[in-house]
Amino acid sequence: MNTFVEGKRFEGSMLFAHKGCSGPVILTTSLYWKKGKLAIDFLPNKKIENLLKGNRKISSALPFAKRFTQEFLKSINVEDKAISSLNEEEKSKLKMLKYYEFAPAGNFGYTKAEVTKGGISTEEINHDSFESLKQKDLYFLGECLNITGELGGFNFQIAFSSAVTCARNINKS
Ligand SMILES: Cc1cc2nc3c(=O)[nH]c(=O)nc-3n(C[C@H](O)[C@H](O)[C@H](O)COP(=O)(O)OP(=O)(O)OC[C@H]3O[C@@H](n4cnc5c(N)ncnc54)[C@H](O)[C@@H]3O)c2cc1C
Repeated sequence: MNTFVEGKRFEGSMLFAHKGCSGPVILTTSLYWKKGKLAIDFLPNKKIENLLKGNRKISSALPFAKRFTQEFLKSINVEDKAISSLNEEEKSKLKMLKYYEFAPAGNFGYTKAEVTKGGISTEEINHDSFESLKQKDLYFLGECLNITGELGGFNFQIAFSSAVTCARNINKS
């Protein structure tokens, strides 16, 4: 899938969970989502016109699980019928698969979050030691800081690197 949020585009796998959706592309998208709309391209690198050919039923022609296609068709009020019998309005509704825009009701907060996005501003931290600039001998590392990374191990990297830097500095003194 491709997602579009706040002027950015992400690519990756998506999962329909029991409640809502998840998967790598959704987790990355959620980092930038600001309670507004986002859009999904369910057919990246494919032209819908090329798929809507022949006389098969829509759910057989589209490369999705039948259950997904049928639910999608229900939501746009189009019957699962032979492609050749689709009128222009129905065809144009199916184009929504290339840019399905919606406003998610929310996320699951800290109970499901992979990362908190922290709290302490890095501007209040000595970058060589991770000691607070406001309080001597107080250190803030990893997720305590207001930095985070997209999926790909960057949060571990932040946690490990800040810990090593801090420990080295403490050992020196
Ligand atoms: C399900 C899941 C999957 C993730 N996958 C990835 C991934 O693939 N790649 C990636 O980069 N990041 C991933 N993350 C994020 C990553 O795990 C965190 O960003 C990282 O572990 C933060 O490290 P930290 O040391 O700052 O905090 P933590 O790892 O949360 O460590 C804080 C420690 O402090 C302890 N603690 C809390 N309160 C107290 C207290 N009062 N006294 C003593 N100890 C206390 C806690 O028990 C904990 O052991 C994932 C997170 C989750 C939840």
